[in-house]
Amino acid sequence: MNLPRPRPVPRDGERFDLAIVGGGATGLGLALEAAQRGLDVVLFESQDFGSGTSSRSTKLLHGGVRYLAQGQLSLVREALHERSAVIGIAPHLAQPLRFVMPAYAWWQKAFYGAGLMLYDLMAAAHGLGPTRWLGPEATAQALPGVRKIGLRGGIQYWDGQFDDARLALTLARTAEQASAQVRNHTAVRNIFWTGRSQAVIEVQDALSNDTFQVQARCVVNAAGVWVDALRSPQDSHPHPHKLVQPSQGVHLVVDRSFLGGEQALLVPRTRDGRVLFAVPWLGKLVLGTTDTPRDDVPREPEAFEEERQFILKEASAVLARPVREQDVLSQWVGLRPLVAAADHQGSATRSLSREHTILQDSDGLVTVVGGKWTTYRAMAVDVLSHCMQHGLLPQRDQGLRLSPLLGAPADTSACQPLHAAPGLHLYGELAGQVLSCPGAERRLGMGLTEAMVRYAVRAEYACTVEDVLARRWRALFLDAREAARMAPQVAKILHDEGIQEPRLHAFEALCRQYLPPALRSAAV
Ligand code: FAD
Repeated sequence: MNLPRPRPVPRDGERFDLAIVGGGATGLGLALEAAQRGLDVVLFESQDFGSGTSSRSTKLLHGGVRYLAQGQLSLVREALHERSAVIGIAPHLAQPLRFVMPAYAWWQKAFYGAGLMLYDLMAAAHGLGPTRWLGPEATAQALPGVRKIGLRGGIQYWDGQFDDARLALTLARTAEQASAQVRNHTAVRNIFWTGRSQAVIEVQDALSNDTFQVQARCVVNAAGVWVDALRSPQDSHPHPHKLVQPSQGVHLVVDRSFLGGEQALLVPRTRDGRVLFAVPWLGKLVLGTTDTPRDDVPREPEAFEEERQFILKEASAVLARPVREQDVLSQWVGLRPLVAAADHQGSATRSLSREHTILQDSDGLVTVVGGKWTTYRAMAVDVLSHCMQHGLLPQRDQGLRLSPLLGAPADTSACQPLHAAPGLHLYGELAGQVLSCPGAERRLGMGLTEAMVRYAVRAEYACTVEDVLARRWRALFLDAREAARMAPQVAKILHDEGIQEPRLHAFEALCRQYLPPALRSAAV
């Protein structure tokens, strides 16, 4: 297979209806919805698609059980609808997943069971399966690694699970198919307004350092926790400090055998009142997460020691086999772009809004922030409606559609579960294209082949070792030491595909950061 390298270069000065800053769930979802409505769209992502928060989520498509407890019913209902919609349009990357909440006291079964029954009722036709009370034996069968002493039973319910970075990539490719221009490794440096509905956007290719300009009648800032850097200072009112109050979330990845089985575990209330998940994903077990406010927005935030200890301690409390620091295969950290309340100073980020906010500055820049992965489509449609109502974009149909994403198999019975180890099945209908690249038989580790690396360059916008091993393939997130071992081979293939500087050393340094400090020295 000899596909053209998909790095379309907009012509210097080219004019678009809509320019989008940021290639995470929010920006990519918007690009797709806008392009499908016949608008001329360009999207710029300063690093790689999904490389911000959108590759660092818990990978759940969920209505938000904990938002139910906060009484945010409309938010939960919308998310439950979107949960099943995303599963429907990308069944190879998003699937239903059974959760079990183990109960160690009788009241927990009644209390949480009632809440989850309501969750189920609210899903109505979009339900993924019934909520059930389980006895102690059935609970232990569903969660073989759970602590059995004192186990009174459990509640089984359904939510969704997905591969966030591959879904982001798939949104980019589907948007491009619908004629949007999407560019990774291209940063927006400046936005100048030459009149109402006339913006000049100055961008820089991060790989070549070349700069160029495009024009757009509407610009949407979907830069996640980085939105504030693009807004002009005079537009900060009524948010005198910042629009975003970042909240850090850490995940630890360990061997699947700590939990066993195919179902996920939810602890609704840890000893200090937090939530903990243990989710089988791509052959490993993901433990998390935390919710720690921070004031800065680094690209690669470090996990705080307290966060790592919290996850290890609480996982060990509910699992029969204690999880130790040396069991950690990878740790990743993401920043939630929570919308700051004007008086947020000192308040816990958990009480800030998870719903999205759309804000239009006096110069015309539209900023969208907040929400969650699960509701990216609803956010996109809200932004389009806003822009159309304010005359920034021509009128188009504003309803949500259910068009399958690129690669979605028509026959879902062939889909492999997402808790299984990664493999060719993650490409869905496009697996044949991958197999036609050279090196389909040459295995590099963790299910990755030489052909997949070549395909990542030729068809999936990969430009660096990190693009391949962190997001096209989730090696870095699943086992950082193994990812470091595979990196030199991947760099060689990228070089062979014409990439002069695949950034091998930067990736090796990143692999160290994805391990707890005590394990770093022996890592790479
Ligand atoms: P991002 O993904 O951060 O995208 C913004 C992009 O803008 C970045 O890629 C950045 O590089 C780019 N950018 C910044 N500045 C510029 C510039 N000048 N030029 C060009 N590009 C620029 N949601 C769920 O539904 N389910 C979950 O299980 C879940 N779990 C989560 C767990 C954690 C720990 C966290 C932190 C979040 C979780 N979320 C979850 C929420 C969800 O991940 C986020 O709401 C979503 O990913 C935000 O997407 P975004 O596009 O707004 O931001």
